[in-house]
Formats: sequence, C-alpha cells, structure tokens
Amino acid sequence: MKRRISGRTGLLGLIGTPVGHSGSPAMYNYSFQRLQLDYAYLAFDITVEKVPDAIAAIKTFKMRGSNVTMPCKSEVVKYMDELSPAARIIGAVNTIVNDDGKLTGHITDGIGFVRNLKEEGVEVKGKKITIMGAGGAATAIQVQCALDGAREISIFNMKDAFYEKGLKTVENIKKEVPGCVVNLYDLDDTEKLNAEIASSDILVNATLVGMRPNEDKSNIKETSVFRKDLVVADAVYNPKKTKMLEDAEAAGCKIVSGTGMLLWQGAEAFKLYTGLEMPVEEVKEQFFK
Ligand code: NAD
Repeated sequence: MKRRISGRTGLLGLIGTPVGHSGSPAMYNYSFQRLQLDYAYLAFDITVEKVPDAIAAIKTFKMRGSNVTMPCKSEVVKYMDELSPAARIIGAVNTIVNDDGKLTGHITDGIGFVRNLKEEGVEVKGKKITIMGAGGAATAIQVQCALDGAREISIFNMKDAFYEKGLKTVENIKKEVPGCVVNLYDLDDTEKLNAEIASSDILVNATLVGMRPNEDKSNIKETSVFRKDLVVADAVYNPKKTKMLEDAEAAGCKIVSGTGMLLWQGAEAFKLYTGLEMPVEEVKEQFFK
C-alpha cells in the first residue's frame, strides 16, 4: 500500500448502508493493482439522507465514480446528468461514472446477469423467460432481458408490496420494448407457474427464497417442471448453489448460479470506470471460489 497510493491516486467508492460486509473494495482494489491502475476503492456508509452530500463529495474529490447499493440506488437517480437506457427505465443506479463533473448513472445488475448467461453458453435473444421476483434484482434482469431481445417474459411474484412494482415493470417494458411480450402473475398460482415454465427456455429465481438463512426453501415445489432443455438460473449467490439449483441439476437441467451475475455486474462497472476488462478469471479464483 505504501508503494501503491500516491498523490495522484484516483478515488472510487461504494455508497449505501450497510457496506461493511461488501466484497467490492477487495475485488476492485485487487483488479487495479493487478492492471497497475492508479486507483483506490473504499466503502462509505451513506444513508439516503446523506446522498446529496455523497454526490457533492464525488464531484469535489473528483472521484472517477462510485458504486451504489441499497438503500441509495433510487435516490441517486435525481442527481445524474445522464442515465443509461436500463437505469432510466428501472429508475435505479448502481454505478456512477464521473466524467469531469458530468455524472452518468448505469445499472449493471441486469447486464451482469445476461453476460453471465452468455459466458455459460446461453443467449436470451428470442427466448421465453420465466422470472420469479419483482424486487431490485428481478426488475434489472427483466428490463435487460427485454432490451437484449427476449421474446417473452413471464413474471411471477407473491401478492406483497413488490407486486405493484411488477405491474410498473410490465408497463415500462411494454412501452419501451414493445416487441417483447410481458405479463405478471401471482406466484401462488402454481398451475399457471408450471404452465409458463413448460413453455419457457429459461427459469430465473430473483426472490429472497433460497437465500441464507432460508437455504432449504425453493419457489419450485413441483420439481417435475425441470426438463433437461430448461436452463435454470438464480440471482441468489449465498449459498452458491441454492435448493432450486440443486433440484434442477438433479433433474438434468443446465444451472447458472448468482455468483456469476455478481462477478459480471462488477466487471461491467470496472469497464465503465476504466475502459478495461477486469481480470475476471483471477477475480473469480480469488474471491468467488
Ligand atoms: P428485494 O428486496 O428488492 O426483492 C425481494 C423479492 O423477493 C421480491 O420480489 C419479494 O416479493 C420476494 N420475496 C420475499 N419473500 C418472499 C417469499 N417468502 N416468497 C416469495 N417471494 C418472496 O431484493 P433484491 O435486491 O431484488 O434481492 C433478491 C435476491 O437477489 C437476494 O438474494 C439478493 O442477494 C440477490 N441479488 C443478487 C445479485 C447478483 O449480482 N447475483 C444482485 C442483486 C441481488
């Protein structure tokens, strides 16, 4: 560190709360060091009320940019000079790039999800995708899949507060990507869920179900829906292989874990900051094993 930090070292960061558990500082600092880029990355505990101060600091300290996590992802939107298409549609930002005081907001979660599928040999273009969830991760995945040419998206969510958000996503996708057929259904309607999965190429879980401490749970109760030609992906990365993925793998499906989405959303942000590819294989080896 003594040799690495100089008077010219550029600063990047993560804002949100809590941030103490975040793996981002380790991942980005490792990558900067590996590529000999003169940047340092720190996590800053920032509440929603402190967002205006944090944005001012990004400009004052001429930071190259910042990642944004909960609960600040929607709040930062109003301070951006420009938004990526997905960030505009979703109304949330997880990556801010500072070009000489001009702030552009991006959301890389959905891009990371699609890129990870591609790395696994799965394309979303022309596909029908059933996605369980209507929260932050699910919305990012749904919008990016639509932007990247998915033919049809069937969203399932329980009738909680997120159902309304799902209705808004359906409305947004219909308006912004009219070529994509999109519908929202109740996750408790098992018959409809099974029917939509039967005509889908890809099934995605982007709910909290299956995440620690509920790792023994899966939204898919009837495992007969898992066919060999169905790709089954999870946004949940803790545990790496969820119960849903274990059941799908046992039935012969190709499975895709949420860890890859996490890795690639970070790699996409790294590229936006530096214009360079993150050393993904090494980062995977160091932090995602
Ligand atoms: P969120 O709070 O925004 O959304 C929660 C979602 O879970 C909603 O759709 C809600 O209806 C659903 N849900 C909650 N309890 C449920 C239950 N008992 N049964 C069915 N559905 C239920 O959360 P989020 O930020 O979208 O995160 C969702 C998951 O995705 C988390 O496990 C998170 O760690 C993961 N995630 C992964 C990445 C990645 O890069 N892999 C990125 C973001 C989030």
